[in-house]
Amino acid sequence: LGGTSAVVDTEAMPTSAVSPEFPMDLQPLGQIQESFIVATNPEGLWIIDQHVAHERVLFERHRRQRQERKVEGQRLLLPNIVELHPEQQVTFRDIAEELAASGFEVELFGQRTVAVKTAPAGIAAPDVQRLLLEILDGVGPEASALSLETLQNRISASVACHAAIKVNTALDRSKMEWLLRELSKTECPMACPHGRPIVLKYSLKEIQRAFKRI
Ligand SMILES: [Zn+2]
Repeated sequence: LGGTSAVVDTEAMPTSAVSPEFPMDLQPLGQIQESFIVATNPEGLWIIDQHVAHERVLFERHRRQRQERKVEGQRLLLPNIVELHPEQQVTFRDIAEELAASGFEVELFGQRTVAVKTAPAGIAAPDVQRLLLEILDGVGPEASALSLETLQNRISASVACHAAIKVNTALDRSKMEWLLRELSKTECPMACPHGRPIVLKYSLKEIQRAFKRI
């Protein structure tokens, strides 16, 4: 890790973007490119990445449900047959139990294939295979070296990413209000489970300074 990229990252973001506080009183004004929600409150102007915001909401929900052993699964109309290469087969055997507790019902189906019968809630059927393979490849051959918490976090993060609202999606006002409210209730509203920022904030002071009013 070079120091240069860290400097660039910091400069790209207003300093207040790292503030841990996310307000409850944001009023959404609209979207930029159907991807970023623009909102205001008396503190200033806020820009929220809709995908990672929803990802954060779903991640915390999935983690909570997992801890309570109550993850919602969704039965697929047809089992999704997924072919695994040898490394993925090993990983699958290692984490099968955790997958089951995370909303998947997967059965071995022949030597190299599995049948996914149930997927975590919110995952569209065509996305089930990609999600499962992403989890298996992400864990890789080192499943036993991971702590249970790390494994659960990774699975929850992948599930949340695949179930979250995508960028380039039009949202009506009530949907934006709902997302901002849900985000404000999360434990960590400013960063997504992968560490990307969710929120940019331009404080009233920064705006006034930019217009040379102070
Ligand atoms: Zn994502």
